[in-house]
Amino acid sequence: MCLPLLARRRCCICNVYHHIDHKLRHSSGLQSIDATQAMLRSKINRHLRGFGCLALRNATEGPVLAVQKSEAISPHIPNDALQSWLPSRRYQSLPARRSTQYQHFKGRKPWWQSATGMKWLGIAGGAGGVYYIAHIETVPYSGRRHAVLVSPATEMALGTSTFQQFKQEAEANGTLLPARHPASRLVSKIGMRIAGVAQTDNHGQPIKHMKGLDWEFAIINEPTVNAFVVPGGKVVFYTGLLRLLESEDEIAAILGHEAAHVVSRHIGEKLSSTIVFTFLQLAAGLVLGVHIPADIAQLAVFLPNSRKVETEADAVGIQLAAKACFKPSGAVGAFEKLAAAEKREGVKIPQLLRTHPLSESRIKAIKHNLPKAEQEYELAGCRAPKSFFDVLGPA
Ligand SMILES: [Zn+2]
Repeated sequence: MCLPLLARRRCCICNVYHHIDHKLRHSSGLQSIDATQAMLRSKINRHLRGFGCLALRNATEGPVLAVQKSEAISPHIPNDALQSWLPSRRYQSLPARRSTQYQHFKGRKPWWQSATGMKWLGIAGGAGGVYYIAHIETVPYSGRRHAVLVSPATEMALGTSTFQQFKQEAEANGTLLPARHPASRLVSKIGMRIAGVAQTDNHGQPIKHMKGLDWEFAIINEPTVNAFVVPGGKVVFYTGLLRLLESEDEIAAILGHEAAHVVSRHIGEKLSSTIVFTFLQLAAGLVLGVHIPADIAQLAVFLPNSRKVETEADAVGIQLAAKACFKPSGAVGAFEKLAAAEKREGVKIPQLLRTHPLSESRIKAIKHNLPKAEQEYELAGCRAPKSFFDVLGPA
């Protein structure tokens, strides 16, 4: 004889009642309600543990024995006693031979959409907001405020490992120029001069995260017209770009731009935006059930931000080069040559999809920033005396 038993118990982890429908074989061991109840409790606990619910809350409702037909009941368990023991009328209406299934979330919200879940998500969001605000800092030279959630040490470790890997690959390909090569020496000489002045801000105050950087310049012998920097002061410069430039001032404009990325902690800022976006994407998915596509974020947030930081690097870079006594006009020459090369390449990327601003816009902005850079050049005492009499100064 089979006795259908239905029981439920709430799991304290997922806060959901698990419904258990067991077929209980009548046996001589089940001769009383107490014995049946004890057996049921043990079965439920075993079931819940199997479900991954290790911490069990004492059930407010005891196991429910649902019996549809009186004749199905063991003669050892009086029907009246069973009926009085049932705490919920609802389960009496359930079919006796319900299929065995564990419907974890059917008809119920997951815990993170419950009041408790929302509370914890709110606390996590609030703590995240406080952490974000606590990490807002001012970009030297530009004065812009931004949040960098990763430490300078993390940035540096990330940059150093990326740079070492890049160098090893270039060495294996035979494209890494040795340090004694004239091109390497020229770029390093200009770069180290800029790195030296980049230790302090426009008020002459030391910049904390610039302290202890181990600047390095890798020259890659490839026709690529590009240069880039990774945190920690590791610069990669392609000979394709070097061949395009005609003076130290023009090389300094590019290296000033790369150094400005380090001064402004642009990589750390980008990492932080990615962390914030991932958190918001997760929260929107959990709470609202809304998926924020990465492409939308790329178009709406990351690309505009990328263009903004590139413009900032141009503006800060021109000041750094001027402070290191390279003529600010070199930046105009360098970016005009880059614009001409871009036209020759004939690759047209719409402004909206660009990581960098359009060359014409960059040149216009650089020309706008020239007077400020000229001032920096003067203040740094870079202007060479025109003649012996200039050294004497006015009478
Ligand atoms: Zn850049």
